[in-house]
Amino acid sequence: MPLSLMTLSVVDSPVTLKEGLKILERDDHRCRYCGLDGRASFENALVMRVDFVVPRARKGKKDPNNLVACCIPCNTIKGTRVYASFDEAKAFVLKKQEELRKNWESKIARPLARSANA
Ligand SMILES: [Zn+2]
Repeated sequence: MPLSLMTLSVVDSPVTLKEGLKILERDDHRCRYCGLDGRASFENALVMRVDFVVPRARKGKKDPNNLVACCIPCNTIKGTRVYASFDEAKAFVLKKQEELRKNWESKIARPLARSANA
């Protein structure tokens, strides 16, 4: 049940369970950055969080307009830097993720996964 999973994020998030679930439902449990579908698998659901587009550390508000469904990897890549807009943040996250993917493919992936992704 995605509800209890949310409690994992409440620890370091000021968003309550109810508020977080509202955002996830609005965004259909999909990461707004990479599109990861939190309803497609339990593993995906485990990494779904709510992201402050303008980080709290930068005085971002707890307003639905500033909150989006987000997976942990995208949230980590995005960090606490400030972007001009959500689109700019998304472009940065996707570009960075592509760089990380190439690095993973060349250095970490098993040969089988490498050829499958080639
Ligand atoms: Zn994501």
